[in-house]
Amino acid sequence: MAWDFSTDPEFEEKLEWMRTFVREEIYPLETLDLDEATFRRLTDPLREEVKKQGLWAAHLDPELGGQGFGQVKLGLMHEILGSSIFAPTVFGNQAPDSGNAELIAIGATDEQKEQWLWPLLEGKLRSAFSMTEPETAGSDPTLLKTRAVRDGDEWVINGHKWFTSNGSSADFLVLMAITNPDVHPYQGASMIIVPVDTPGVDIVRDVPTMAEPDTEFGRYGNHSEIYYRDVRVPCENLIGNEGDGFVLAQKRLGPGRIHHCMRWLGQSKRAFDMLCERALSRYAFGTTLAEKQTVQNWIADSAAEMQAARLLTLHAAWKMDQEGSSKARVEIAMIKYFGATVLYNVIDRAIQIHGALGYSTDLPLEAMYRHARAARLYDGADEVHRVTVARQILKRYEPHDMPSEHIPTRREAAKQKFAALLDEATANL
Ligand SMILES: Cc1cc2nc3c(=O)[nH]c(=O)nc-3n(C[C@H](O)[C@H](O)[C@H](O)COP(=O)(O)OP(=O)(O)OC[C@H]3O[C@@H](n4cnc5c(N)ncnc54)[C@H](O)[C@@H]3O)c2cc1C
Repeated sequence: MAWDFSTDPEFEEKLEWMRTFVREEIYPLETLDLDEATFRRLTDPLREEVKKQGLWAAHLDPELGGQGFGQVKLGLMHEILGSSIFAPTVFGNQAPDSGNAELIAIGATDEQKEQWLWPLLEGKLRSAFSMTEPETAGSDPTLLKTRAVRDGDEWVINGHKWFTSNGSSADFLVLMAITNPDVHPYQGASMIIVPVDTPGVDIVRDVPTMAEPDTEFGRYGNHSEIYYRDVRVPCENLIGNEGDGFVLAQKRLGPGRIHHCMRWLGQSKRAFDMLCERALSRYAFGTTLAEKQTVQNWIADSAAEMQAARLLTLHAAWKMDQEGSSKARVEIAMIKYFGATVLYNVIDRAIQIHGALGYSTDLPLEAMYRHARAARLYDGADEVHRVTVARQILKRYEPHDMPSEHIPTRREAAKQKFAALLDEATANL
């Protein structure tokens, strides 16, 4: 019997250190309005501390300066990091740099590692992932229009992208483009590194969003709209092989989704703690809110939903560690929409119990809520992941003219199966 839901004690100690460190050293930063340089000054010593603990860039293999922990351990770490938006940066695994580093690492030449990967890991360079286009459905990347055409020893790129997170604060973009329109897009798309200062890269704006309606151009975390007009980059900026775009995207997105889901649980837990604290503190109609059955339902449902999301996610992580990303496809798709909905519901209940205070910016809940809404869209909308799950599950079934559980049909079959014994029973009457 190999079912085991425990964390090994040595790793649990690291997690405990992380919980205290994130709560005591990182939470306080959230309340300050810091510019980039001051944030860096305040967080640099924290990064050093994380490195000393051997927890820096833990998503990467040891030869890339990481810990090679595997997805289950990483998932447990991300659950803690997700509780504060600043924590991933202090631990060297903030999106999209972490995913891009993994991507470059998969197919990187020595030159690419030297030029892009090492500086990215050291935090000297920043990156963004540029795939979604305003004119085509991001849910169906086989429709991508952005083209990269080989001309001598250069790629010439033309296209229009948006929602490139951190595009305006990045040093380089990991671009997904069609390099061969004559084959199926699954074989005809490629990923190419494009430095932002290449002529023809035009970052026209940072798109205002529900989470950040007042964008300040170039701020970390913004989502950029970018035109690529006759952009020329050397052929060696191709990541992996020509036509690898979709394979690379899948490799990047699998672990990324585990980390997202576990970070959402960290956020959910923070909202849940606020929900419970308020339930015990607020008094109305003769009792505390904690004594109202509706509020008890919110607490019980939230706890069950978070536990379900946690187990689903850790199981998906375990399956990835055991059998690889492609075998865990259904599990990964399932946690994406399930986890996003849990996050959204728990924050919503936490806002509700706080009444007007929950709606105000005096609490972090309204901002958490606005950010949480995006979770149901990025990295694939809920509906797309549901399609994946349903399609894969349906492969395990066959159509039947008569339902296979049809009782009269089964009764006839049972009579035939047991005919001899049934005859004997009738004869003995
Ligand atoms: C905060 C945020 C950050 C992002 N960061 C990045 C980034 O860094 N890089 C990047 O390239 N992109 C990024 N994106 C874009 C994101 O990946 C896309 O928004 C997403 O893939 C959906 O594509 P779309 O917006 O074009 O919506 P569409 O593809 O047009 O889909 C719209 C809606 O149609 C419905 N739909 C689609 N397909 C189906 C289906 N099969 N069945 C039923 N309904 C369906 C869904 O309800 C979906 O929400 C980001 C988005 C957000 C919100």
